[in-house]
Amino acid sequence: MERTPPPLDGELRFDELTCAEHSDDFGHILRHVPEAVLLPGSADDVARAIRWAAQRGRKFAAQGARHATFGRSLVAGGIVADMSTLGSIGVVEDDRVVVGAGARWSDVLRATVAQGKTPPVLTEYLDLSVAGTLIVGGVGGTTSAYGVQSDNVLAMDVVTGEGTTLSCSATENVELFDMVRAGLGQVGVIVTATLKLVAAPESVRRFQLVYPDLATLLRDERLLSGDERFDAVQGAIAAAPGGGIAYRLDVVKYFDGDPPDDTVLLADLSDDPNQRQPTTLGYFDYANRFAALETALRANGQWFFPHPWLMTFVGDSRIESVVTAELQSMNPATDLGPFGQLTISPIRRSAISSPLLRIPSDDLCYAFNFVRMPATSDAEEVQRLVAANRTAYGRIKAAGGTLYPVSAFPLSQHEWRDHFGPAFDQLDAAKRQYDPYAILNPGYDLFEQLRPQPAVG
Ligand SMILES: Cc1cc2nc3c(=O)[nH]c(=O)nc-3n(C[C@H](O)[C@H](O)[C@H](O)COP(=O)(O)OP(=O)(O)OC[C@H]3O[C@@H](n4cnc5c(N)ncnc54)[C@H](O)[C@@H]3O)c2cc1C
Repeated sequence: MERTPPPLDGELRFDELTCAEHSDDFGHILRHVPEAVLLPGSADDVARAIRWAAQRGRKFAAQGARHATFGRSLVAGGIVADMSTLGSIGVVEDDRVVVGAGARWSDVLRATVAQGKTPPVLTEYLDLSVAGTLIVGGVGGTTSAYGVQSDNVLAMDVVTGEGTTLSCSATENVELFDMVRAGLGQVGVIVTATLKLVAAPESVRRFQLVYPDLATLLRDERLLSGDERFDAVQGAIAAAPGGGIAYRLDVVKYFDGDPPDDTVLLADLSDDPNQRQPTTLGYFDYANRFAALETALRANGQWFFPHPWLMTFVGDSRIESVVTAELQSMNPATDLGPFGQLTISPIRRSAISSPLLRIPSDDLCYAFNFVRMPATSDAEEVQRLVAANRTAYGRIKAAGGTLYPVSAFPLSQHEWRDHFGPAFDQLDAAKRQYDPYAILNPGYDLFEQLRPQPAVG
């Protein structure tokens, strides 16, 4: 059934070029061309377009920065909303800021740092949209202390699958709040978010430490996750330039005024002292550190190659055997690529409160990620790595690990149910309540998609 689009503050574009631009993401693995692209001029436009899509039996997904790796914001023949037009940053208050859901974390940080404030947790890369990370969780270097980004959102305005706008927080529409945070966009489109702020440090002292092997790297990760001497601790394993494997730890201490004492910070660590690389950086430059890699990857073309990433959480009791098995099952030079790496960053489980984020039961867990940067766009090679993600996830799951759903491989609805465990029924009930026609965010393929359409009104 065709209908004229409703009057909008922004516009709905049907042209081939705009639809093609919104048919791809950072993964460059899947491509789905939408029927139309909404450039919302207001939050009300999102509600109008969702109602219009539902009446025509079309699916609807918000697109933030399109940095998902497996087509999660794409909708074949449906409507996508380019949320970058709703990226306003409100007045920076002492403990919070209200932002449009399409704002990028880089813009949020620029505005808050100017007032001496920062969100407590920032992702490794800042050009992700605020809502895009809130719906998955948002893991960063300070997660062990502060949780994920969705643990640090104070309130949100959300448009449901029926086109109704609701405010939610820890005290208002609490169930909706809990099902939106790390809920994979299944129950609503976020239009504004109130983000918690804390004092921003002026500077950071950063050390890149080198280890002889995995056991020694993990020994220091455990030590540092227990004594809180650093603000961020992130381990990495990569193919070493001259062959073999490099084990590294990136640790950071925030400070104002005088720099901290390096000797105290590095006491009792087991890295190679001759290879320590200390630097001092401004806080924003540190937080924006991925930008240099982005520039390099754009220059050599690899930014535009497929990125079949796998992201998981593994408990401390199994991390060493899991990482060892994964290293034995791969050739890091080709399976991760020259700029790729495995990352292993400690997280104290007690810091996480978003109910839908699935984390193993150990008190100490690790975000264990396969950041694959293959130096090829060969389709067969990409499919091999997508299949390798599934196999590796099977092994990690058998060891009690859990999936961070931003990963690049398909999960069946049965597997999603298994992933969410007891929380699935709550998400399913919320989906039926807030998105009764099951039109929102089909890219995760979490729910059966055939439900009755609304009466045309
Ligand atoms: C270079 C790079 C580095 C990364 N580093 C980290 C990291 O350090 N920590 C981490 O946790 N993750 C990281 N990620 C993963 C990233 O957080 C997720 O892929 C995230 O979902 C991307 O959000 P987006 O808005 O950029 O992408 P999009 O592809 O636009 O959206 C991702 C998902 O969010 C949904 N969505 C977008 N906007 C809304 C909205 N307003 N309301 C409801 N749903 C919405 C989309 O429909 C889609 O399902 C990284 C990704 C890349 C490419």
